[in-house]
Amino acid sequence: MICGRVVQKDDECFGTSGFLKPEHPLWSYSDAIMHSTCYMVWDRRSEFASLYSAAKRRWYASNPNCSLLLDTPNLFVVYWSLSPAVIIFLKQIAVAVSVELEDLNYWLLLPTADERFVQAELDRVRADLNLIGGKDHILEFLRSSGLADLSLTASPFPSAKSTSS
Ligand SMILES: [Zn+2]
Repeated sequence: MICGRVVQKDDECFGTSGFLKPEHPLWSYSDAIMHSTCYMVWDRRSEFASLYSAAKRRWYASNPNCSLLLDTPNLFVVYWSLSPAVIIFLKQIAVAVSVELEDLNYWLLLPTADERFVQAELDRVRADLNLIGGKDHILEFLRSSGLADLSLTASPFPSAKSTSS
């Protein structure tokens, strides 16, 4: 789309849902995919990423299953109670990385993503990622905020029901 070459199945890509109105000058880039390599050198990337980050931030804020955990110039982090998972939204590239809460402590030791451009950004913002603090830190924050989901503290195994015959 930026380079004019067709995106192939195996190309590393970046894409967004439709979040801009048709009258916006960058509208044709929303609800579309592009090569990640083209995206990273695109002269409008910063502007586009900032717009998409703000749109996603509003969407998460309006979603009852989400709680904002952290917000820095490089990223914001929301807790997604349905999985439960932590969604790390990298603002500079406008990409969300989702990590299951159970995997979070391990992941924070060595933050990884499948796509190279996302991995490069994770490496760059490592200091911000360290502010997430891990699973227990998040659960404590949710408890102290009155946001704790009871399903989190419950045993993953259904308790044995007493049966009477
Ligand atoms: Zn391209």
